[in-house]
Amino acid sequence: MYSVKEAFYTLQGEGAQSGRASVFCRFTGCNLWSGREVDRARAQCTFCDTDFIGTDGQNGGRFADAEALATHLEALWQRPSDSASGNPSDSTGGRRYVVFTGGEPLLQLDPTLLEAMHERGFEVAVETNGTLPVPPGVDWICVSPKGDNKLVQTRGDELKLVHPQPGVDPRHFTGLDFTHFFLQPIDPAPGRIATDRAPMASVVDYCLRHPQWRLSLQTHKIAGID
Ligand code: SF4
Repeated sequence: MYSVKEAFYTLQGEGAQSGRASVFCRFTGCNLWSGREVDRARAQCTFCDTDFIGTDGQNGGRFADAEALATHLEALWQRPSDSASGNPSDSTGGRRYVVFTGGEPLLQLDPTLLEAMHERGFEVAVETNGTLPVPPGVDWICVSPKGDNKLVQTRGDELKLVHPQPGVDPRHFTGLDFTHFFLQPIDPAPGRIATDRAPMASVVDYCLRHPQWRLSLQTHKIAGID
């Protein structure tokens, strides 16, 4: 059984795959916060801007097995508007791409679902807080460390650190086995264009002084998409 908060077709907003057409699958639940405001102050991750409780978001639900969920996600790539015109969206040449996120997706993503997505021609990405191991075969691994929670997943394609986080020094991560290192300004006003420029200024300054790191923006918020 898989529990999905929401799933939708969009453009990836962050990191090295920014701007790429993607099916996002947001799993229900996280191991670092319950998702309830009353628990936020004592959570292991305190700045979350995501609703990952329940299964009531767009295209969310409970799926009995990997085949059912994979079929559901495939249908989001093949959008009705494309089918109606007779021009399947993947006829344009881009490779199918699914991003499993959350909450914490590694509480649910397993080899069976991974295989079901690969069988449907999808490249599979995961965005994880890094406290759980990524199963073999994932095509794109994005780790976003949260606070001082111990990293289990210490290799991947991109490490994306929300910055600044109290007590978290980017230097702690620079020796890890990632291809890309991104700093992303913490969102001081989730859901809106930020007016507090301090986090942005801090990230820009850090990247200028430490060129191993690059600036990552939440471009989906600028574009006004999910
Ligand atoms: S680890 Fe990610 S999903 Fe979980 S509470 Fe933190 S920001 Fe939210």
